[in-house]
Amino acid sequence: MSQPMIALPATDPTPIVTRFAPSPTGLLHVGNVRTALVCWLAARASGGRFLLRLDDTDTERGSAEFAAAIEQDLLWLGLGWDGFSRQSDRTGRYQAALDRLKQSGRLYPCYETAEELELKRKSLLARGLPPLYDRAALALTDADRARLEAEGHRPHWRFRMADGPVEWQDKVRGRVHFEGRDISDPVLVREDGRALYHIGSVVDDAEMGITLVVRGEDHVANTAMHIQLAEALGAVPPSYAHTSLIADAEGHGLSKRLGSLSLRSLRGEGIEPMAVASLLAKLGTSDPIEPRLSLGQLAAEFDFAKFSRTTPRFDPAELQRLNSRILHETPYAAVRDRLAALGLGAVDEAAWAVLRPNLQRLDDAAGWWRVVTGPVGPVVADAALLEAAAAVLPPEPWGDATWGEWTAAVRDRTGIKGKPLFLTLRLALTGLDHGPELRGLLPLIGRERVAARLAGRAA
Ligand code: GLU
Repeated sequence: MSQPMIALPATDPTPIVTRFAPSPTGLLHVGNVRTALVCWLAARASGGRFLLRLDDTDTERGSAEFAAAIEQDLLWLGLGWDGFSRQSDRTGRYQAALDRLKQSGRLYPCYETAEELELKRKSLLARGLPPLYDRAALALTDADRARLEAEGHRPHWRFRMADGPVEWQDKVRGRVHFEGRDISDPVLVREDGRALYHIGSVVDDAEMGITLVVRGEDHVANTAMHIQLAEALGAVPPSYAHTSLIADAEGHGLSKRLGSLSLRSLRGEGIEPMAVASLLAKLGTSDPIEPRLSLGQLAAEFDFAKFSRTTPRFDPAELQRLNSRILHETPYAAVRDRLAALGLGAVDEAAWAVLRPNLQRLDDAAGWWRVVTGPVGPVVADAALLEAAAAVLPPEPWGDATWGEWTAAVRDRTGIKGKPLFLTLRLALTGLDHGPELRGLLPLIGRERVAARLAGRAA
């Protein structure tokens, strides 16, 4: 019997709803940008949605600027969002969830000071035991609590983990297993009454219909706790993908160098958004790292099955190389406005084709364009050769073939060919010993300036 014809989608057919949830405490850097990008690509690849959520309940002043910077940086990279929220607007929702946890006995008040907790922790560690909270507060009677409160102690509140296994099938790490009893009861509300990240994260993921949480592997233990928390609130936990943390080129953690690896500073160094995206989408996957000109293409190639659990290394030199390669392939239409903003509105499509193979960053185009428009101080390596070349300079109009015809005529007249001929002409016409192809540059420079430069005059 023949098989029915079913067109299977290449990717997960269920639209994924993801969120990127940065805390606005700093600028985006290659580590969290990668998380954002993976979230975005996973959503796009499945025809789903990508939400931006600012985890700002736990942050101090200054966060408004960082929040604005995060939004600008994501947009620069092309990672627009389908929905936006900030946790500071949703504290009422978290309070409602906390009240439910209190009612079900999963949230309990504790009165230890930070010093007392530190002592307990040290003594457990000294005995070679894991530093789990001992749940002493569960033994407090109503009278104990009343006395502590009368003495001016304010409680912090802990979520009571349940014993038993917590497991999930992680899209990057495979099956992950924790035992509830191995995880310390987390504090969800601080002494000052402020709710911590965990409750906001779990409530938002549930209420916003998040189906997949993508975050760094430093959150794996949190996830075991978040799964219990979601279940305690009657929610179905989302799926999870914990990506390996990125190391630097030497294999060390990135934390010390994050300033220089912020998206802002990479942008300031002339790195193109698609160079960042091409690298970070493939870092730590089985795909080769190659230039990609659109996020759509990266989304089409995206698959969690390609991600490895090993620590990928971020090499700025690799990003630079990718940046050059991307510029060399970038079509004129994609840079026209940016060239105009650099004062290079006169660079047209033909000129772009001549200049782009020599660019490491877009604003290098200004330097090469000055070689065209001048004034260039010619370097005269062989005055007789230049004089002979000037004598056979063809009349305009000039085109692609002009360089070949002219240099053939100079060779016939002088017997000089190859490098001695080409380098002498390049030094005279550009003042430099390297640069874009002369075949392309010649018509851009034009006969008048070429004649002047051959005569040794700045033009
Ligand atoms: N605000 C948390 C962070 O930046 C979010 C983690 C998560 O994705 O839940 O690490």
